[in-house]
Amino acid sequence: MMIIDPQKITSLLSGVPFKVEVDPILDKALELKGLSLEDVALLLTVGAYGHIPLQNKIIETAGQVKEEVFGKRIVLFAPLYLSNECVNNCLYCGFRVENKKAVRKTLTVENTVREAKALEAKGYKRLLLVAAENPARSNVDYILDVVNAIYKKTGIRILHLNAAPMSVKDLRRLKEAGIGVFQVFQETYHPETYEKMHPSGNKRDYEYRLSVMDSAIEAGFDDLGIGALLGLYDWRFDVLATIFHAHYLKDKYGIWPHTISVPRLRPASGSQLTETPYPVSDEEFKLIVAVYRLAVPTAGVVVSTRESVELRREVLATGASQISAGSKTEPGGYKEDEEHYEAAQFGIDDKRTLDEVIEDVARLGYMPSLCTSCYRAGRTGETFHEMAFSGNIKDYCSANAVLTLKEYILDSANASKYACEEAIKKELGGMSDKNLKFGVEERLLRIEAGERDIYY
Ligand code: SAM
Ligand code: SF4
Repeated sequence: MMIIDPQKITSLLSGVPFKVEVDPILDKALELKGLSLEDVALLLTVGAYGHIPLQNKIIETAGQVKEEVFGKRIVLFAPLYLSNECVNNCLYCGFRVENKKAVRKTLTVENTVREAKALEAKGYKRLLLVAAENPARSNVDYILDVVNAIYKKTGIRILHLNAAPMSVKDLRRLKEAGIGVFQVFQETYHPETYEKMHPSGNKRDYEYRLSVMDSAIEAGFDDLGIGALLGLYDWRFDVLATIFHAHYLKDKYGIWPHTISVPRLRPASGSQLTETPYPVSDEEFKLIVAVYRLAVPTAGVVVSTRESVELRREVLATGASQISAGSKTEPGGYKEDEEHYEAAQFGIDDKRTLDEVIEDVARLGYMPSLCTSCYRAGRTGETFHEMAFSGNIKDYCSANAVLTLKEYILDSANASKYACEEAIKKELGGMSDKNLKFGVEERLLRIEAGERDIYY
């Protein structure tokens, strides 16, 4: 079975008939059945024509699907950059080996704990560890030391990882150490563009990178994160290819990806790209988020601080379910708490703090969530997706969002307190299951009395 078939993707995109009907596709999506590759090709093509009423219909439906699966909750997290010492030369990245201006750093294990503690104090419970590729620096032994130290010495409850592909043996060790989601972006699924963008280093091997999720599954991971870096090649191709990859994982292993990220190319100090080869507009970005949501309804669609405040607000309604906040993209950035562009991977756009983002998310009518319970309660892999497909995960999401937001109010919140209290009241008010509501209220009292980390 081919992981992805570039020719088939091109022919699906060019084979969309001129006159199309999107309603039957959207009706199917509303039943949370996901979409075929043909359906996705059609929605992407309609989107690319810039037909506003149809685009709006797609986007509205994605918002409904998101609420059907996850309710109002929006999960928040931060990346923790471990190292920017990279052996690869990805043309678009500030960490690339030939960027001689970059100030290079690999945090000591002690300093990663300091960073994690700084983030914990701000209220984060889930972190995404991010590392450049360097066998002499951020190798698996180092990452394991970091993971063990952060779990042992901080209150961070789940660590995810975005790092280079590695052997099954190494991945197994990471899984055993408690990494939740293992995330690797293919960057572009278009082989010729991939080759141009990665002129040297380990990352040059397209097939090796493409097969990393197979290795992760063999190593025991069942929560996998995939994505394409938008802007390197035609976004319709890369979005359809990402969904092709998702179908492959489902067909071959019975597992949908746990997350699909939507990174869009940003200016980076020392990047070789003076302009974005295939720019993606904000309107197209919203549509992409929506199509991922419709095609793989149970995946977490992740939107980072690469995007503007305004756009991040808008994608909450178009299907995004996880957002980073208060991010720094240079190793050691949280302790120093200011941006050092010469050491950062790329510049971020949304520079608000976690508290500001939480307040905004709550005021917009969503439920900010710092929940990490599924990973720790065994609701992972297909168990998670089955519960989500049948509409059974959102009660957990709702209850755990309330409980973690209460902890946040008591331990870390600043200006957001009032908006958070209001969001909790509203969420409790909307709980139709009386037993659940009673149980959450009883747990809220326990949290007020000082207990922590109570979850469903
Ligand atoms: N070094 C590992 C790798 O490349 O897979 C993992 C970490 S890398 C720091 C994480 C991701 O950042 C990359 O997969 C890429 O998609 C993204 N990235 C790199 N340069 C970027 C840029 N200029 N703008 C936006 N995202 C970028
Ligand atoms: Fe290194 Fe990853 Fe940046 Fe490529 S994207 S230069 S592998 S850190």
